[in-house]
Amino acid sequence: MIPYGKQDISQDDIDAVTAVLKSDFLTQGPAVECFERRVAEYCGAQYAVAVSSCTAALHLTYMACGLVTDKRLWTTPNTFVATANAALYCDAEIDFVDIDPQTYNMSVEALRTKLEAAKKSGTLPDIVVPVHFSGYSCDLEEIQKLSEEYGFQIIEDAAHCIGGSYKDKKIGSCAYSKACVFSFHPVKIITTGEGGLITTNDKDLYEALLRLRTHGITRDTDLMQQKDEGSWYFEQLELGYNYRITDIQCALGLSQMSRLDEFITRRRELALRYTEKLPLLPLQLPQNSDDSSWHLYVVRLENDTDRRAVFDQMRERGIGVNVHYIPVHLHPFYRQKGFKEGDFPKAENYYKHTLTLPLYPGLTEDEQDHICKSLESIL
Ligand SMILES: *Cc1c(COP(=O)(O)O)cnc(C)c1O
Repeated sequence: MIPYGKQDISQDDIDAVTAVLKSDFLTQGPAVECFERRVAEYCGAQYAVAVSSCTAALHLTYMACGLVTDKRLWTTPNTFVATANAALYCDAEIDFVDIDPQTYNMSVEALRTKLEAAKKSGTLPDIVVPVHFSGYSCDLEEIQKLSEEYGFQIIEDAAHCIGGSYKDKKIGSCAYSKACVFSFHPVKIITTGEGGLITTNDKDLYEALLRLRTHGITRDTDLMQQKDEGSWYFEQLELGYNYRITDIQCALGLSQMSRLDEFITRRRELALRYTEKLPLLPLQLPQNSDDSSWHLYVVRLENDTDRRAVFDQMRERGIGVNVHYIPVHLHPFYRQKGFKEGDFPKAENYYKHTLTLPLYPGLTEDEQDHICKSLESIL
């Protein structure tokens, strides 16, 4: 089966991991900071904190940005459940903003309309989380303008988008946001096995994230209540977690970072190749963009095409097509909270007709031709 996404591991990656296994530190060693510095520099952000997953990154960032009981977080329904779940870990109120049917990202118009209504009813959000779906950046400049007008913080979910850009800046620069989170799950752009990372330019947020990643503990005497107990001494200042990532994982991440641009170039090549080979089929192809990281290549089938039949027949031919995403608010857990069909019609309609084609650096042109021919014959 050709998968929809797959990691690409080189001998250098393996050697980097082996070197850590032979060293003194498997965790809490130097590889973590090296990886953090590398990603921060690449993205053009001042600080980076690596953690055990992107879900952990979302949870800690929401917490550190003050999301507590009765505060409100809005995101898009066209995302992985983790974006919304992490708000519920903080016991906050979750709500969604419908998508733009061209980019499948959060619609700026829908956001504006919802903010106007929320202002009148006194239910403005504290945090808005745009998700750069498939690697195509949201319109951060417009969202930032709205954040200034309505007073919410922006946290970017860039799980799909390391290596992507927006207006000549790398995603993760946080030029338009408080913080940006990445995922290093094997289907994403680069991998650490499991892993995530937060970039920010806010020093206080950075220090809070470092503490929360490791139980809320500090060894910084400036922050302690008892200043001179001895050099063994540390204090727990708040309730944190063990969301640490290991040096083994970060060695892999660091090695993968040196291949990131190569991965993006190959993904873009393959995406352009799809776009050249598929235009005569009854499909809406994704928006072309040199700025996308091309995590996913999604095609929208026509309304009268039987998506399920196309999906099953592609799978029968050994092609691991997928569907991104089931709108978060339609999962039973979210329906129990009062969400229902019809709440976000554009995301729901998109979901009914979408199909993700395989895309990853190791996909061969022969495999891609097989995918295109299969789709053509099925349609
Ligand atoms: C994968 C993903 C996550 C969660 O990432 P993990 O590293 O698996 O926790 C969050 N948001 C989006 C949009 C994702 O695609």
